[in-house]
Amino acid sequence: MTSKDVSTHYETLNCNENATKEEIRNQFKKLALQTHPDKSDSKTSCEDFHRIDYALKVLATDESRRQYDCQLIDDRSYDRIINQEITINDMILIDDTYSIDCCCGGSYLISIDDFSQLSSVESPQESLIIDCNSCSLSVKLGKT
Ligand SMILES: [Zn+2]
Repeated sequence: MTSKDVSTHYETLNCNENATKEEIRNQFKKLALQTHPDKSDSKTSCEDFHRIDYALKVLATDESRRQYDCQLIDDRSYDRIINQEITINDMILIDDTYSIDCCCGGSYLISIDDFSQLSSVESPQESLIIDCNSCSLSVKLGKT
């Protein structure tokens, strides 16, 4: 969840991920005028200025932008890797929670309540994604 809370340099500069270098510079100028410490004495705008200044530094150079783009793609695909597909028969019921071990030593956990939503007749859902409680892998729990 943590990586999603942090905005990307593109979001910081309020521009598209395939924006041209010129568009990025223009966005920077626009935002810099609003947040430059000389224009305002508030602490937040000073932090904002450093954030957009850093974002520009990364995105203004082809090489560093390419590296950053690769890193973004990495972060995103790493975010939700479906490790394997399982069914409820693969899981062990402990108290009110079904569980299956992850290769990292953590576990995938799903409560009986959540599972009953998947198995209920009214639910059109065909599968649920369960995240590991200690790494970023996920499993897909399908209907049996
Ligand atoms: Zn894991």
